[in-house]
Amino acid sequence: MPSDPAEPLPDPEAVLPPAFLDRLRQQLSPGDLSAVLAAFRQPRAPAFRVNTLRAEPAAVEAELTAAGLTWQAVPWLPAAYRVPPAERAALLASAACAGQRIYVQNLASMVPVVVLAPEPGERVLDLAAAPGSKTLQIACRMRGEGELAAVEVVRSRFFKLQHNLEAQGATHVRTYLQDGTRVWRYRPEYFDRVLLDAPCSSEGRFHVSDPASYAYWSPRKSREMARKQVRLLYSAVQSLRPGGVLVYATCSLAPDENEAVLDKTLRTFGEALTLEPIGLELETMRPPLQTWDGRAFEHDLSPARRLLPGPDTEGFFVARLRKKRSTLTGRNKP
Ligand code: SAM
Repeated sequence: MPSDPAEPLPDPEAVLPPAFLDRLRQQLSPGDLSAVLAAFRQPRAPAFRVNTLRAEPAAVEAELTAAGLTWQAVPWLPAAYRVPPAERAALLASAACAGQRIYVQNLASMVPVVVLAPEPGERVLDLAAAPGSKTLQIACRMRGEGELAAVEVVRSRFFKLQHNLEAQGATHVRTYLQDGTRVWRYRPEYFDRVLLDAPCSSEGRFHVSDPASYAYWSPRKSREMARKQVRLLYSAVQSLRPGGVLVYATCSLAPDENEAVLDKTLRTFGEALTLEPIGLELETMRPPLQTWDGRAFEHDLSPARRLLPGPDTEGFFVARLRKKRSTLTGRNKP
C-alpha cells in the first residue's frame, strides 16, 4: 500500500510489467482494455458470504445493520452480500467477521462453487484448497452431509486451511496434505464433483495499491503455472466418476493458463469430456479466446467464461466440464 493514503494511486500502465500489458492488449477489445486498466486502480466493493454453518443470513443481516453497515444482497447468490468500499474497515472489524459468522471474499472468487453446484450427500473434492474460502463455501452448501475432501500440498498453507476450517465450524471436511497431481491414484473415479481452483499467476488480482500482487510476475512463471495446471487438471479428471462435474478455475487472465490448459485437456481425454455452460452471466464476463499467439484452439471452448477485473470483481476464468464415460482405460489406468 502507498505510505500516504491520500497520495494518488499510480497509473497502471506506468507500474504494471510491460510484458503483461502487451499480452493484455492482445487479448482485449479497446473498451475492455480501458475498463480493466481502470479496475487495476479502483477500490473494489468488498463482498462477503454468511457462514451458514454458524449463522442464519437474516440474523447476520440484522447484526450488520445494527453495526451501521449498509449491505446489499447479491442477486445471483443467496447469503452473499457487498458493502461500499468505504465500509471495508468496518466490515473487517465487525463482530460477525471476528466470530466467523461471515467470510469476506471477492465476488469473482465465489463463482466457481456456484458453477460446481455441490449437493448435500455427494462426494466432493477440492483439489487445491488453501486457505479454504471455496472449501467453506462448498461445506455450507453440503450442510455436513456427504464427503468433502480438501487437498493442499504446501505444508504452511495446509495448516492454515485446517485452522480456518476448524474455526469456521466446517468439521466434516477431511483435509489431506498431499500433492494433488497424485490424488487420482488413490481415488480413481471416486468423486461426484471436483473443484480445481488452480495455483496460477494471479493476474486477475493485480492492483496498483499492492505492488506485491504483480512484483513477481513473469512470462516464465506463467508458463510454469500452465504446466502445473495441466498435471492437476489431469488428476482432477481421473478422480471424477463418469457422469460427474468438474470445475476448472484460475484467477489469471493468461490464455496459456486458461484456454490453452483446457484445450490440451480436451485433447488428452477426447470425447470422454464435454464443456457445459457455466449457468451464470455477469456484466464483466466474456467468452473465452478462440486463438492465441497466432494459433487457433482445437476445441470449441465457448461455454467457458473469462471474468474481467471490474468494480466488483477480480479477474477469473471458469469452465465446467462433464465426464461422459470412464477415462481409466489403456495408459490412463492407475
Ligand atoms: N481454493 C483456494 C481458496 O479459495 O481459498 C485457493 C487456492 S490457490 C488459487 C491454489 C492452491 O493450490 C495454493 O494454496 C497452492 O499452495 C496449492 N497447490 C499448488 N500446487 C499444488 C498441488 N500440486 N497439489 C495441491 N495443491 C497445490
